[in-house]
Amino acid sequence: MTKRVYNFYPGPCMLPFEALQSVHEACMNFEGKGMSLWETSHRTPGYEKLHNEAARLMMEVFEIPDTHEVLMLQGGGTLQFAMIPMNFLHAGTFAEYVCTGHWSEKAIADAKLVGDARVIADSRDRNYSYVPKGYPVSPDAAYLYVTTNNTIYGSELHEYPKTDVPIIADMSSDILTRRVDWSRVVLAFAGLTKNLGPGGMAVVIVSKDFMARNNRKIPAYLRYDIHSEHNSMYNTPPMFCIYLMKEVLEWTKRNGGLAAMDENCENRAKKLYAAMDAEPGYYHCPVAKEDRSRTNVVFHLPTAELEKKFVAEAEKADMIGLGGHFLVGHCRASLYNAMPMEGVDRLVEFMADFRENNPA
Ligand code: PMP
Repeated sequence: MTKRVYNFYPGPCMLPFEALQSVHEACMNFEGKGMSLWETSHRTPGYEKLHNEAARLMMEVFEIPDTHEVLMLQGGGTLQFAMIPMNFLHAGTFAEYVCTGHWSEKAIADAKLVGDARVIADSRDRNYSYVPKGYPVSPDAAYLYVTTNNTIYGSELHEYPKTDVPIIADMSSDILTRRVDWSRVVLAFAGLTKNLGPGGMAVVIVSKDFMARNNRKIPAYLRYDIHSEHNSMYNTPPMFCIYLMKEVLEWTKRNGGLAAMDENCENRAKKLYAAMDAEPGYYHCPVAKEDRSRTNVVFHLPTAELEKKFVAEAEKADMIGLGGHFLVGHCRASLYNAMPMEGVDRLVEFMADFRENNPA
């Protein structure tokens, strides 16, 4: 049995072991054909079946209605920052953005290069430690852009803004952790690297009506409608990413689907925050309580030296990836769908021991 550690990296991150195990056969002998999937043409029935099943499972597991469709696109979450305004921020219109951290900043910077992108709410004033609320959204905005979970700063949008303006959401780090009201979200995307698979690809869930409005005067590869017409095979698709995404979605379905993922996500986060809140003088989460992320738990220790020691000792105890992002420092435990509760239990135990052995 391969040794497995508890992996708290923010993405790429821990993936279901069963999904990883299946890669060996796909790699060595895809469908018993004597060659690997990566040596197979994407125009074969075997690959097409896998490709279509990955998109279909995404629709099923994430409870997406047929008003929307799933696209599987290269470029990771990051290319979506540019594709969204290029397709939907037409000349003479404007879009509104909520800035809640590093990834929204990047989306805003790209949108501003394309057109009239306006930031209507921003939590930079307190180092992104909360999510703005109650701001007015202009009824004639082309779309409202939000980041539903801030991977680096550890905050999450628990309630969508009340507006009739079409909402576009970056769900990279909380996709498949809760139900979405698809009547309000016209486009959602996620880089694969958290709850779906390896890097290099994004899944995009887009309303067919909204997609019909996309700009036709941009290069073909950047147009959502072109990818849709070609069933996400306008060019050779990222077959490995799609293969693993399908395996991860099958695992998600076998393990209770969206409702179970939501419940597990809640339980993991509750347990870890409760342990931290019980030691307020030692472990401290800088994020406003009501905005705390359920997938990225950011915390401080009394000194930078103790934080370094904490991360190093945790690593020795097979808990990997607890250092914070270089922009923020401190510590961060990322708790995505493949993290079992035993991982959180081990971390909580370790935190209590560490505090005992390393008084401030
Ligand atoms: N948005 C968010 C919220 C993210 O956390 C990330 C990656 N960590 C991205 C976008 C970018 O995704 P990718 O690395 O797939 O380009």
